[in-house]
This record gives sequence, C-alpha cells and structure tokens, in this order.
Amino acid sequence: ITDKINALPDGANYFSLEFFPPKTAMGFANLQSRLERMSQALRPLFVTVTWGAGGSTATKSLELAEICQRQLGLTTCLHLTCTNMDRALIDEALEQAKVLGIRNILALRGDAPRSEEYRDEDKSPEQDSNKDFTWAIDLVRYIRKQYGDYFCVGVAAYPEGHSDESHPEHQNPSYDIPYLVEKTQAGADFIMTQLFYDVGKFDRFETMLRQHESGAFKTIPIIPGLMPIQSYSILRRTTKLSHANLPADLLARLDAVKADDELVKKVGVKILGEMVEHIKARRDAARRGFHFYTLNLEKAVSHILEDTHLIGQIPTENDEDAIETTPAINL
Ligand code: FAD
Repeated sequence: ITDKINALPDGANYFSLEFFPPKTAMGFANLQSRLERMSQALRPLFVTVTWGAGGSTATKSLELAEICQRQLGLTTCLHLTCTNMDRALIDEALEQAKVLGIRNILALRGDAPRSEEYRDEDKSPEQDSNKDFTWAIDLVRYIRKQYGDYFCVGVAAYPEGHSDESHPEHQNPSYDIPYLVEKTQAGADFIMTQLFYDVGKFDRFETMLRQHESGAFKTIPIIPGLMPIQSYSILRRTTKLSHANLPADLLARLDAVKADDELVKKVGVKILGEMVEHIKARRDAARRGFHFYTLNLEKAVSHILEDTHLIGQIPTENDEDAIETTPAINL
C-alpha cells in the first residue's frame, strides 16, 4: 500500500474500500459480482477485508481476501486482531495471507482481553497461548519479528478518542497518542482512522499528530475513515457504537428527511462529499487518501466518489499490481 501511495504524484488523491465477509454462499456470490463491478468502475488504490474479533470469521475473511487479491487482482489489506484469539490462528492467518500474495495487514487489538482469565497467573504459558498479545502493538512487533518487511502494516487511530470503557481516560485522543507513537515506531507504515462525521475533530487530530514532538507522524499516511450514510437508523447505531459525534447542523439536515430513506441517502452523499472536499483542502499530506467503510454496499460510495472526482485519479497501469497478483513464492 505505501509503495502504491508513494508512487502517486504529489497532490494526488486516492481512496480505499472496506468489505466484510458475508455469512452465506449466496452473500459471497452477490458480493463477488458487486466487487467485480466496483473494482472496474471505481478503481480503488486498495481494498480491505475485516476480521471478526476472536477469529470468528477467519476462514471467510481469508476466502474474501483471496477473491479480492487473486481473482480480482486488487491490492488487498487483511485486517487481523490479536486478543481473545488462539495464537495459532494468528500464525495461520499470516502464513495464509502470504501464500495468497497479500502484502498488507491492518494490525488491530480487537475486543479487550477478558481480564480475569487473561491475568490468571496460575495459567502456564502453554495453556495461555495468547499471552503475548494484549495490545495491537504486540501484533505489529510480532509481524515485524516473524516477517521482517514482507508486510506493509497499518494501525488504527481514533480522532475522537477510544471508546474502550476499561480505560479511565477513554474518549480522549491525547491519551491514545503515546501508544500510537509506539505502534508507529514499532513499524506501522500507515494509520487508518475510526469513522467520524465531525471534520473539525479530524482536523485537530491530524494536526496534533503531524506536529507531535516525537516526529513519529511527520510523513506517515493518515487515512481518514468515512462511512457513507446508508440509513438514518444505521447512522445513529454506528455513531453510538463508535462514540462518533454527529455535529448539530449535520443532524438537523438528516432529521429533516429522516422519514424518507432515499432522501436520507441523498443528503448523506452530499454530507460525505463536503467532508471529502474539506479534508482534501487541508495541506497536511502530500497525497491524500480516503477510506470508505462500505458495509458491502455500492451506490452511496459510488456517488460520493463521483461527486468528489476521486474516481480515475489512480493510474491503471501499475507495476505493483503486476507483482502482487502473481502467486506469492513461499520463501
Ligand atoms: P490498541 O492500539 O491496542 O489500543 C486499544 C486501547 O488501549 C487504546 O485506548 C490505547 O490507548 C490503549 N493502549 C494501547 N497500548 C497500551 C498500553 N501498552 N498500555 C495501556 N493502554 C494501551 N475490530 C475487529 O474486531 N475487526 C476488524 O476488522 C476491525 N477493523 C477496524 C478497522 C479500523 C480502521 C478501526 C479504527 C478499528 C477496527 N476494529 C476492528 C476495532 C478495533 O479492534 C477496536 O477498536 C479495539 O478495541 C482497539 O483496537 P486497536 O488496534 O486500536 O488497539
């Protein structure tokens, strides 16, 4: 991913799309044809595939990642969580990703460890196969230790702070920053943010990172995470879950049309378009990326990309693609 970003000319914009593995074979078939259409029409710089916390979607995530990387030739980033999950599953996922030719991992913690069980001192190391993974940084370090520079590694960040209730200072971005510095210094190559609708909060967060005294964030890609508005109820649910602020003016625009799903979507496309334009106008990055949480849906994101002229900015002929779509050699 970072090779592809760095190959873009200064001032270029790019975008990526997130997908999750459907539960059924029918869902997979539908998503596959949608992915084919979307990848040809939209040409994202890369796509990402989510990972169910605790490895609950391991097989399906790898199956979807294989479709994206091998069948569709898309540069694919596999999300991987590391807590509440058998250590062997992490090893298998990384090995399988390598076999599939996937070169990018979004290294995440996942749900917080179940503390009593986790901190049970009586457990022998053999029983506690996951004792090495408490935070996302442990996974970043592990990937670097086991695979050197083979994988391009991304990490998560939270413009509005983290919603982890087990931390007394959750929802405070400056609390998270020392840990984000650590993740970056341990070898993260890019940062992808939690979804937000308050661009002012993103502005402040990005400025805080770029100016941070550690210098850890001077040039690292910071990719804002944006979720197209699919419906009023999904919006309210996801913002509640992720503790994302809905600015009053934005909420008023949506409240005014909330009884009409089509109008909500239309207003949502406009709002997201304004957010993209606002962020584009910032001068904090040589090349500006946008990551879209698609919820596997096509229309809203396509309209946003069209309205903001993000489609067609990325060259079609790309040597990196050629390298990445050939089956990986098992080193
Ligand atoms: P960490 O970086 O470990 O941080 C978690 C919290 O712990 C933060 O508050 C941090 O400040 C604190 N912390 C970190 N290190 C330390 C330390 N050494 N000591 C004390 N406190 C510390 N979840 C999934 O299950 N599957 C997915 O596919 C998925 N994709 C995601 C994609 C993106 C872009 C984002 C933003 C989140 C995603 N998540 C996913 C959610 C994520 O797993 C949760 O938010 C999780 O609770 C935290 O993950 P993290 O990687 O940010 O953790």
